[in-house]
Amino acid sequence: MKPLALFGGTFDPVHQGHLSVAWEASELLDADVRLMPASMPPHRPVPIASAAQRVAMLRAALQGQSRLTLDTRELERDGPSYTIDTLIELRAEQGTRPLVLLIGADAFAGLPGWHRWRELFDLAHIGILSRPGVAAALPDELQREIADRRVDAAAVWREASAGSVIDLAVTPLEISATRIRELLASGREPRYLLPAGLFDDYELLSPYRSRR
Ligand code: ATP
Repeated sequence: MKPLALFGGTFDPVHQGHLSVAWEASELLDADVRLMPASMPPHRPVPIASAAQRVAMLRAALQGQSRLTLDTRELERDGPSYTIDTLIELRAEQGTRPLVLLIGADAFAGLPGWHRWRELFDLAHIGILSRPGVAAALPDELQREIADRRVDAAAVWREASAGSVIDLAVTPLEISATRIRELLASGREPRYLLPAGLFDDYELLSPYRSRR
């Protein structure tokens, strides 16, 4: 059975960096990928766009292909979006299918701050997406936790349904939602940093546009 990869984030807004790394991860792992927007991310400020607006942008971005899909379960749950709760649900639904949690290298370095982080390895593999401008240093406790978990051949993932860590060397794209929000707020139109569908409806990007 193809692994199922989960790619969480605020997607405020979804950008070409997200889509490209998710697409490449699906190729490297031969996996289906679900993008999972968080409602209340526990580690960061409240998103600028509402949950409904972020979902509308994701739907527009994902049109025209079927390998990357949308999973809105975290938006339907009350309270903070803890990844551990999401993985417990998915494991119950997916049985022994390999699950792969995709995390950008910047976010991965902060893993020890996540709720019940060590238990994540009982439920899923972790795929670390390379990201330009991110220093390689990881906290000691994280390095110790993953030292014996690293695998490099994608095939190894097929033998177990959880517990390994793999580095996914994806094409570096120095795009961030923070930068895109800054550009839109200053009146710029970052057309080719964002999926084309986001420009089909003027309303989609209105949460970020300057009111001047
Ligand atoms: P912000 O600038 O608001 O922090 P972001 O661009 O990092 O946003 P998020 O929605 O926070 O986007 O990211 C979701 C996931 O995507 C995280 O794991 C993050 O590390 C990863 N990610 C985002 N952009 C890239 C990129 N250009 N290359 C690799 N990983 C990325």
